[in-house]
Amino acid sequence: MKENKFDILIVGGGLAGLATAIQFAQKQHRVALFEKEHYPFHKVCGEYISNESWEFISALGIPLSELELPKINQLSISDPKGNMLHEPLELGGFGISRYTLDKLMKQRAETFGVTVFEGTEVKKWEYTEGLGFTLFTSDQHYSGTLLFSAHGKRSKLDSWLNRSFMKKKEPYLAVKYHIRYPVNPSEIVLHNFKNGYCGMSAIEEGKACLCYLAHADDLKAEGSIEALEQHVLAKNPHLAKIFQEAEFLYEKPVVISRFSFQPKKQIIDHVVYIGDAAGLIPPLSGNGMSMALHGAKLAYEAFEPFLRGKYSRAVAESTYAKNWKKNFSLRLRVGRSLQAVFGAEEKTILFFKLIRPFGSLRRYLVRLTHGKSF
Ligand SMILES: Cc1cc2nc3c(=O)[nH]c(=O)nc-3n(C[C@H](O)[C@H](O)[C@H](O)COP(=O)(O)OP(=O)(O)OC[C@H]3O[C@@H](n4cnc5c(N)ncnc54)[C@H](O)[C@@H]3O)c2cc1C
Repeated sequence: MKENKFDILIVGGGLAGLATAIQFAQKQHRVALFEKEHYPFHKVCGEYISNESWEFISALGIPLSELELPKINQLSISDPKGNMLHEPLELGGFGISRYTLDKLMKQRAETFGVTVFEGTEVKKWEYTEGLGFTLFTSDQHYSGTLLFSAHGKRSKLDSWLNRSFMKKKEPYLAVKYHIRYPVNPSEIVLHNFKNGYCGMSAIEEGKACLCYLAHADDLKAEGSIEALEQHVLAKNPHLAKIFQEAEFLYEKPVVISRFSFQPKKQIIDHVVYIGDAAGLIPPLSGNGMSMALHGAKLAYEAFEPFLRGKYSRAVAESTYAKNWKKNFSLRLRVGRSLQAVFGAEEKTILFFKLIRPFGSLRRYLVRLTHGKSF
């Protein structure tokens, strides 16, 4: 029988939730993490992680340098007609699947004593002044002093919480495959198509991740993912070649839809939101995983002193919210502006023509989407 009283309750076992869990558990706090899926599992994500996270992930005890991961230092982008631009990635990154990374982090969390409830969906919670939180699953309840919600881009919890971004129906869907295809392991490629873009880069074991963002109206008009790929994505000649020649390693793609890039709040009613639940950056800007991990570090730094009685909950909350905005607000704004350009066919072609002669502008834009090592 697992215990039901903890210092920390964490909803969602993606990178934000797991990194938060490991840090608090390393300091001997009692941590429970709730994940509705069973590890390991596939997740929609481009699986390119900016090098800003390398040190932090390694410090959590994940032996990245032993995993022989592809190191990525080149960005290539095609416009919907297939014209290419190439740009070195100053900071660069590496490729690893979420299937592998989340599994390694979950194992690491358990090594430090985190109680992981997998296959367990959180339904709701309550906060009582002076007592803390009670969290409810379908058949149990658990108590904790702090509650971090790292439930990702979109969850039934957002409807229950009546969060404002849920009122606006967003038009995006995202699709991911693992493929075998002769990719350059040091390059991430972004192919644009009408109303969307598709990233491809190497991950572990000689595989590549192929992940795209498309418009729900195009899917509706085409009737199926396959028809969307054949009639919309394949208008870009590079994508046509990939869809013809690659070996697709899943029977079906992993698909998500209707998530929002609208601004979100980081603290509501004493619940601390981290990762995509605190703010989702358009995948074009590449670095949602690093933001999720960095956000977990900021949450730990703000709330660990509170648990030790160093300062009040109110001070911890305002420290976290302030540092989150300081680190990520500009990136999110840049991400949303780039999304507006790359999500639309004519604008993408025009943007390509405009920036083609200006290498320093291109490098500046790439730099704005990456953060610094944390
Ligand atoms: C198309 C696309 C491509 C992307 N490509 C990249 C990329 O190449 N590089 C990059 O850095 N970022 C990329 N991102 C962003 C990145 O995937 C996210 O920013 C990152 O996964 C955020 O991590 P997280 O821990 O906040 O959320 P997640 O990893 O989504 O984890 C949330 C977890 O919460 C669980 N959950 C939800 N509700 C409940 C509940 N009620 N109870 C229990 N568990 C629950 C979910 O099952 C999930 O495991 C991409 C995003 C998209 C949409």
